[in-house]
Amino acid sequence: MSHLLSFLEHYGQMQRLQEQAGEYRSRLRREESRRRKQLRTLRRAYRQQVQDKLSVIESLEGVICEQQNVMETLHGMKLPSTCPLYPCPPVSPVGVHRLVESISALQGERNKLLEEITGLRQQLEEEEKGKQQLAGSFDLQVQELKQQIEEREEELTRLRTGMGVTDSEKRIHNLTVENEGLKQTLGVTQGLLQQLATVSAQPSATLAQENEGLRSRVQHLETSLQQKVEELVRLEGQVSALQWRKEQELRRLDQQIRELQLALETQQNRPPDVQYVTQTVEVESPTTLRSLVEAEERNRGLLEQLSSQGERYQRLAEQLQGSEEVTAGLRHKIAAYESEIAKLREELLREINHLEAQKEEAVKEASESSEQHLEQLREQLTGVQRRLATLQPILKGMKTNYSSLRSQVRDFSGFYEAAIREARRQMCSAVSEASEASRDLLQKYQHEVLLRKKYHAQLVELKGNIRVLCRLKPVTEADQREGEVSTAVSTEPGSDSSVTARYKGKERTFELDKVFLPEATQEEVFLEIEPLVLSCLDGYNVCIFAYGQTGSGKTYTMEGVPEDPGINQRALQALYREMEARAGLWKYSVTLSVVEIYNEVIRDLLGKEPQEKLDIKLNPDGSGQLHVPGLTSVEVQGLQEIRKMLSLGKRNRATCCTNMNERSSRSHALLTVTITGTNCSTGTKTSGKLNLVDLAGSERVWKSGAQGERLKEAQNINKSLLALGEVIQALRAKQGHVPFRNSKLTYLLQDSLGKGNKTVMMVQISLLEKNAGETMCSLKFAQRVCKVELGPASRRIDSWGQSEL
Ligand code: ADP
Ligand code: MG
Repeated sequence: MSHLLSFLEHYGQMQRLQEQAGEYRSRLRREESRRRKQLRTLRRAYRQQVQDKLSVIESLEGVICEQQNVMETLHGMKLPSTCPLYPCPPVSPVGVHRLVESISALQGERNKLLEEITGLRQQLEEEEKGKQQLAGSFDLQVQELKQQIEEREEELTRLRTGMGVTDSEKRIHNLTVENEGLKQTLGVTQGLLQQLATVSAQPSATLAQENEGLRSRVQHLETSLQQKVEELVRLEGQVSALQWRKEQELRRLDQQIRELQLALETQQNRPPDVQYVTQTVEVESPTTLRSLVEAEERNRGLLEQLSSQGERYQRLAEQLQGSEEVTAGLRHKIAAYESEIAKLREELLREINHLEAQKEEAVKEASESSEQHLEQLREQLTGVQRRLATLQPILKGMKTNYSSLRSQVRDFSGFYEAAIREARRQMCSAVSEASEASRDLLQKYQHEVLLRKKYHAQLVELKGNIRVLCRLKPVTEADQREGEVSTAVSTEPGSDSSVTARYKGKERTFELDKVFLPEATQEEVFLEIEPLVLSCLDGYNVCIFAYGQTGSGKTYTMEGVPEDPGINQRALQALYREMEARAGLWKYSVTLSVVEIYNEVIRDLLGKEPQEKLDIKLNPDGSGQLHVPGLTSVEVQGLQEIRKMLSLGKRNRATCCTNMNERSSRSHALLTVTITGTNCSTGTKTSGKLNLVDLAGSERVWKSGAQGERLKEAQNINKSLLALGEVIQALRAKQGHVPFRNSKLTYLLQDSLGKGNKTVMMVQISLLEKNAGETMCSLKFAQRVCKVELGPASRRIDSWGQSEL
């Protein structure tokens, strides 16, 4: 026991330690989860900051790219095909680096572009100068051409006046040469203009467009010049033809003049003739004059042509003037572009400076905030480390605790096993002691049971194996309604076994085993017979009869009413109660059969065909026992099933007759419960039967003059009740021969009524005066049965019976 106690102590200690370890474990888990959560929140905050920084950088990059795009659209310049800012991954230090690089690259690009722009400007200025020079030379040439035209006009006037034809030819030749020079100058100018166009096409698209326009204009000028040249050639041809004709004419005129001079000379030599010659000359001079007039007209046409050419030259000059104006406009535009470019450059520089400042600020802010966060993180980390440092000794302590616990557990298991062994040994000895004691007890119990049985048997013996009880039926409300309230039966106070009946002025007192007063309850009645009923379980056969005239309460006592059941149900309940109480020691099986005996015919009320007649025969097993072939015997498991069977029997009984009440008063109803028990320890078997019989009415019907079927019924009833009386009388008198075979009822109940069995005769009597005759008969029947038993001296066979009554 001391071992057991110390084991329990150890066990308790171990449990405490385990609980402590569990607590430590849970604390550690909580700390770990808290730390994990803190780390998670810190990580989240850091990620958020990085994200914020990246977004700031991205926005800066976006602004720079936008600026770049603006620049691209303004200058029509192409940056490198891939913008170095966009593909930058959004990682903070690399992004900033790339941003700075891209800004510096952008600045370099811008400087290059500015240089290019200044170069182009210089080129433009030079070209402008060249253009101006060309325009000047053009002017000079045009002036020269004008002078030449004037000179030609003068020459033509001179020609008109008849002299200097060869000079005019020379002039025309000079004009042609000059035209050729002019053409060459124009070609040179065109080439220069083309050069200018190609140069100006490079820096700007607008300049290119303007140059294109200029080029087209120059081309237009070229074509017009070509036309003019062609016209000039044509005019030259005309002029040469005219010259040739003039020469011819002049030659002819010279000839004529010479001829005329000769003629004049001849005439002069002859004066009349001179007059004539003069006249002839005068006659001939109008023709010359006409030819002169024609020549003049031709000269005029030539002059006109020359003037138109002059006009064309004028137009050309105007066009040149226009091109100069265009050039001046272009120069202005270039200047405006330059100023715009300068402005934009300044803006861009400002923007870049601003962005750089912003970037620096953002970077500064981001670095400051990240530093702050890092500081916080560091602080948290130090806190966590501190906590970890505090936790580590706890953990260490826990580990040591755990190892000590483990060692304790290890020790404990050895100790535990030893304790268990000891305990088992102690338990075994205790069990053996207990079993020894219980065996002793069992023996004592069995002895006690035997004694109880013996004493019970003796008690029953003392009371008598056949007991006659009387129950007085109270005056019911129905009786009162009928006005029948006068009674003929009384009992003596203080005595529970005597009853006095009055009939025809005579009073007679009967002494029976027990008299139940009218107010006796079903319970009280049953308690009186309960020991007999229970003896079935010990292997006794018991018969309980309800005897009396119709309406005296037989069925009430046996079956009872649903709210207050009678002997049948109470007996079964008591039997089941007892069987349950003996459940460990005994095993019981219960079978049930219900029969009706009417007019000496047995009918099976649980069978499929209740109308079928059954016979009583000797059992073919050679035991000498009787049995009823074909009688239904149902094995039941409980009260519920028994109730079902009883109601089935009742239904079947009702189907056999037209008037149930009449039938029940003229037939015996027998319920047989067979209980077979097996002792669990010894295996001994017992078999007991409880026969509950609601007998037919004992009234003497034939005395009222009944006839026919009714008389036969009455005779049969009388016969069977007489036979029952005789059998009981024989049994009480312990006669050698018991006339069981005299009726179907006694024959059927032979093995239950025989020696060693127990019988209760419950005589039901009415208190009413009108039933006094029948009451007297019933009480005489009861009295005689009792008398037979009560004293051996009275053990004589009386000639008593129903017929005698
Ligand atoms: P029997 O079966 O002898 O013909 P019953 O048992 O049918 O008579 O009884 C007749 C009537 O009297 C029934 O209504 C029954 O309820 C009633 N009765 C019988 N005995 C008692 C009693 N002790 N207390 C109350 N009523 C009773
Ligand atoms: Mg009845």
